[in-house]
Amino acid sequence: MTQPGQTYAWCFSHGGMHHFTGQPWCTAVWVPFTATNEPDALAAKQHAYGDARFLHELPVRQQLEVIEIRETWT
Ligand SMILES: [Zn+2]
Repeated sequence: MTQPGQTYAWCFSHGGMHHFTGQPWCTAVWVPFTATNEPDALAAKQHAYGDARFLHELPVRQQLEVIEIRETWT
């Protein structure tokens, strides 16, 4: 379980993992993971999105998916 106010998210705009401890400070395109530490979050990202670091490296279908997930987190 993710602790309240703590979120690991892969950012496809900055090409790296973000660790939010409160209100997300990045307004770009990122996907949150239900991980309690960074290695777990990276493993989840690798599993779901492979080696893609930036949005354009994903297949179009996954790009849309990522944008949809992002829009549910305001
Ligand atoms: Zn970012």
